[in-house]
Amino acid sequence: MNVLLVFAHPDRRSLNGALRDVAVQELQAQGHEVRVSDLYAQGWKAQVDHADFPLLAPDARLVPTAASKQAFQAEALTRDVQAEIEKLRWADALILQFPLWWFTMPAILKGWVDRVFACGFAYGVGEHTDRRWGDRYGEGMLAGRRAMLIVTAGGWREHYAPRGINGPIDDLLFPIQHGILFYPGYAVLPPFVAYRVDRLDDGGFARLAGQLRQRMRTLATTPPLPYRRQNGGDYLIPSMQLRPGLGDPEAGGFALHLDGTAGRLSGGPQDPDEPPGPEAAGQEHQA
Ligand code: FAD
Repeated sequence: MNVLLVFAHPDRRSLNGALRDVAVQELQAQGHEVRVSDLYAQGWKAQVDHADFPLLAPDARLVPTAASKQAFQAEALTRDVQAEIEKLRWADALILQFPLWWFTMPAILKGWVDRVFACGFAYGVGEHTDRRWGDRYGEGMLAGRRAMLIVTAGGWREHYAPRGINGPIDDLLFPIQHGILFYPGYAVLPPFVAYRVDRLDDGGFARLAGQLRQRMRTLATTPPLPYRRQNGGDYLIPSMQLRPGLGDPEAGGFALHLDGTAGRLSGGPQDPDEPPGPEAAGQEHQA
């Protein structure tokens, strides 16, 4: 497979940098071709602004969706954005790697999505009528490809459990996994989430690296999260409501959009020998 890893950490010598090396080496050892977009190293511009749309007159009002659609159709997006779109077209699998910052991705990576996931490419695709609401959520330009997250978090696994104070990790990652990756068509694999990383020792790193290598070995075969497809019959059109009778009536929120008849949702390293991690308080960034 061709694999694109988008890396969003400001320092190559970080834990994330070391895990990136582990991932890339293992993917290459498996015969995959790998490209890396290192956003900080590339000096990625994170904000959408007038400069993104060379076709737009300098004094014209910027309507981002319309400008994005026009520029995408005319192949007039800026060179940095075009290059990332080409990489996405090349890649059979996309990996987004980042430290969890304020419960989501670093701003530079959000800015990569904002600029690269152009209108007509990642959204605004397909027929939009009362009978069909576009090709999205399981369909779209990136359908047939795989995607997954590699995330490091200072917080403990328990803090991200269903009753944990930070909220369930599946819910926190839902806007990225469902809203950004499944939306344009990717089959989204369970994320690799490393918890309690801020005081990791060499033994902890070795275990983590082993778990990541295992996930990289199964990138092509791991079953994706069972998100319901928009156009698969589970939703009413055009209200986009889940049909009555589907989903656990007790459950609400994001979990409704998973077909509950299929496997485990996510979680990250599942090694039963996973170390308990340092016991000291205060290792977590968030109060
Ligand atoms: P580093 O700081 O580079 O390393 C972490 C540990 O791993 C260190 O002990 C280091 O010695 C060790 N290490 C690094 N490389 C190796 C190696 N090669 N071999 C062995 N050991 C190694 N956490 C949350 O849970 N939720 C949040 O919402 C959250 N928000 C944050 C917001 C901000 C702005 C910041 C700065 C942090 C936040 N954090 C949060 C914590 C953050 O997620 C972690 O600090 C981050 O994931 C650690 O990744 P890193 O690559 O920066 O680690």
